[in-house]
Amino acid sequence: MKNYAIHSVYKATEGEGIFIGTPQVFVRFQGCAVGCLNCDSMETWEFIAPKYNLDDILEMIESQASLDKGKIKRVSITGGDPLHPKHEKHVLSLIIKLHELGYTTNIEAAGTRVVTSIFDEVDYISFDFKTPSTGVKFNEKVFQRFVENYADKSQIKAVIADEIDFNTYLSLYDKYNSIYKNWVITPCYEPKEEFPLERFKNIIDLNQSYGGPFRVIGQQHKWLYGSDKRNV
Ligand code: SF4
Repeated sequence: MKNYAIHSVYKATEGEGIFIGTPQVFVRFQGCAVGCLNCDSMETWEFIAPKYNLDDILEMIESQASLDKGKIKRVSITGGDPLHPKHEKHVLSLIIKLHELGYTTNIEAAGTRVVTSIFDEVDYISFDFKTPSTGVKFNEKVFQRFVENYADKSQIKAVIADEIDFNTYLSLYDKYNSIYKNWVITPCYEPKEEFPLERFKNIIDLNQSYGGPFRVIGQQHKWLYGSDKRNV
């Protein structure tokens, strides 16, 4: 049955977060209703009729993962919003199958939902904290549930545009840092923008001035290919 709405399947080297520099196959689901103001992949928002079945997706992954001299063993599931209820059970089936085939899996979570079926099964969760500049309403109950249950296999990433974003994230860090350790900052790099050197340096300085509560990790793929290049 064709129940996978997919934007693209491609291999690339992870450009952000604590796995930066790791080659992997990305499976980008199509459809997102979160609506971040600074979204860099708005082309994945629209919900479309699913065109693929599970075997089609596995075939695309295997084809991308097979290289001349070796095989990529890590798959990152992203979007769009792969945790939207329309995708949920198909994502879970995909992860289970990928594990049977020997892959390590990561999911990019928007931070708006905790989906236990998927979070319990997947190997790693990259969980967003949506800062004020994203315009997305924050639900602390969801956040708390996440840090209390998935601290051992996750990172929390926040896109920081300014000091308000930083201070908001810092207040969460102060509250939960005793039970959660992997806090990452991604300096905002807007679509169509030149590399934001000053913003990047200011955020590094700000983080240092508080004793370095966060790891500051930029979006390497945007430095290399520009902010608008896709599937890199
Ligand atoms: S959750 Fe991701 S795809 Fe959806 S609007 Fe936010 S940044 Fe864009």
